[in-house]
Amino acid sequence: MAAASGLTATERAPRGAPESPTLEGLTNRLTAASHSLDLFERLSAIRREATGRLVFTTSFGLEDQAIGHAIFTQDLRVDVITLDTGRLFPETHQVWAQTEQRYGFRIHGLAPDHRKVEALLAEQGIDGFRASVAARLACCGVRKVEPLGRALAGASGWITGLRAEQSGTRAGTSFVARDQARELFKFNPLFDWTRKQVEDFVREYHVPYNSLHDRGFLSIGCSPCTRAVAPGEPERAGRWWWEAEDKKECGLHSNPRRPVAASAKANGTDKLPERVS
Ligand code: SF4
Repeated sequence: MAAASGLTATERAPRGAPESPTLEGLTNRLTAASHSLDLFERLSAIRREATGRLVFTTSFGLEDQAIGHAIFTQDLRVDVITLDTGRLFPETHQVWAQTEQRYGFRIHGLAPDHRKVEALLAEQGIDGFRASVAARLACCGVRKVEPLGRALAGASGWITGLRAEQSGTRAGTSFVARDQARELFKFNPLFDWTRKQVEDFVREYHVPYNSLHDRGFLSIGCSPCTRAVAPGEPERAGRWWWEAEDKKECGLHSNPRRPVAASAKANGTDKLPERVS
């Protein structure tokens, strides 16, 4: 299991810097108890400690469905948002509807700015993202990153389904990180889970899941940029498969994933916002 948030000497607050009981409480709890906390407890601990508006962004993949189950069944005060890029699979919309029906909560869909999509299409064509990494990032920027900025506006924390095991670029994922660019805390409650643990959770609680998973799609994004993977291939091999492995992120999670205590304290932003209730 990856280390949750143990502090090294260089990551500790400068001498005389104010300590944040809230953040330290969270850090200590994770360090001491991360092995024993199940997913329900991790989500409720995040909600308890992360004061202010919390956002969970879901793409309805297996990880996000597990996290959504823990949020919805505990009725946690978390805004659940999905980025409806305009290029999603019909199966993804199906599981979106099934999830709302199962739990009785609305999952808010954010669409890209139509003027930016129209400009993108005029510039690169309908599938112009295949031309280069830059073109692909431009498409992801319009269809994902800009709407994500709106989703996270005013939030103090962002819950994601990232796991360290998913790929080399995600190997450093920790339970809590500071997203410096967006000025919020990032919570990754599945950071140390294996894919089998996620599958077992979804099976145990009969969580609705994307039917594409049964057809070899392990990681599911936009339809033209996702393919099924062969047995033994890495989990994210089916995402942007025409690109090099180290380029396979869309910009949503491109900020440094340093432990929270290292990054927040170094910038004097180690306090979580005040509770709203
Ligand atoms: S995943 Fe593909 S279609 Fe979706 S936003 Fe990125 S480049 Fe565009």
